[in-house]
Amino acid sequence: MLKTKLLHFFIAGILFLTYGCQSSTEQTKDPIQIQDTLSQAKTSHKIDTVSTRSEPRISLLTNQELNNLPDSSFVELLTVDSTFVLDMKYATPDNFLKSKVYDCDKCLLRVKVAKALAKAQKAFADQGYRIKLFDCYRPLDVQKRMWALMPDKRYVGNPYQNGSVHNKGAAVDLTLVDAEGKEVDMGTSFDHFGREAHHAYTNLPQETLQNRKLLKQGMESAGFLPITSEWWHYFYQNNRFPVANFKPACP
Ligand SMILES: [Zn+2]
Repeated sequence: MLKTKLLHFFIAGILFLTYGCQSSTEQTKDPIQIQDTLSQAKTSHKIDTVSTRSEPRISLLTNQELNNLPDSSFVELLTVDSTFVLDMKYATPDNFLKSKVYDCDKCLLRVKVAKALAKAQKAFADQGYRIKLFDCYRPLDVQKRMWALMPDKRYVGNPYQNGSVHNKGAAVDLTLVDAEGKEVDMGTSFDHFGREAHHAYTNLPQETLQNRKLLKQGMESAGFLPITSEWWHYFYQNNRFPVANFKPACP
């Protein structure tokens, strides 16, 4: 166990050194996005080991372990809070690419972002809901595949300009499930590229609008911001992290 912890801190240190000190200009698809000066991250194979775990696959980090990790390192969300529901669409062919582009269904985020999302999860739990994730960190190469199919900045960040906040490990696609694990009605499916998915679209049942409002308020309270065109997409407002392009390690 001690060896595991030491390895963990060692990897966190590598990640910090690899990703924490780079900078470039970034402007994302998000209209409310803060422009910053972060550089493209170099692809690193070191990071592939970040979430390699033996059985049991998921073990929670202690508070001390979590707090010792740099904000900019990547962490597997379920090691921060195991109550999240994962439905990682890009780890299946059930997505607009019609292709499985992730090797496994891990949700990786920057530590700071994962902590904020855990805060949102606790607030939703108090109201009888849990967060279900459709996407988290997304490698830049996957962004390029998406852009090839959907070169529309309203829905896919241009990977040849600034990419998406997903590429930084600071955005999430999500919905809410009730106590039975059933998704609440948000009016459209995930990745519905149409105006019905826009926040401004109000020709929906009152309950649906209320569900969207519940998600929006909960996410905003935890430091996330929405974009206009996707009810499911939220990005962490302090996302001065570089774009990344590593593939998460899979079992
Ligand atoms: Zn998204």
